[in-house]
Amino acid sequence: MKPQGCPRCQGSMTRGFLVEQNASHQYQTAQWVEGEPVTSFWTGLKLKGRTKLSVETWRCSRCGFLESYAR
Ligand SMILES: [Zn+2]
Repeated sequence: MKPQGCPRCQGSMTRGFLVEQNASHQYQTAQWVEGEPVTSFWTGLKLKGRTKLSVETWRCSRCGFLESYAR
């Protein structure tokens, strides 16, 4: 579902995603996680039992504004 143009300048939005690199240097897409971040000695962050959703991020080709959806 494409957003109806940039909410700031009405430019056209291009679909993309945010990427991160894990400890094994593999790329993975950023995820939305429910609640506040809680650090963990073993895994960096405690995520067990949290709702996780993949995120799609749209970028305005005119002003660079980002709009993200976790569906
Ligand atoms: Zn814009």
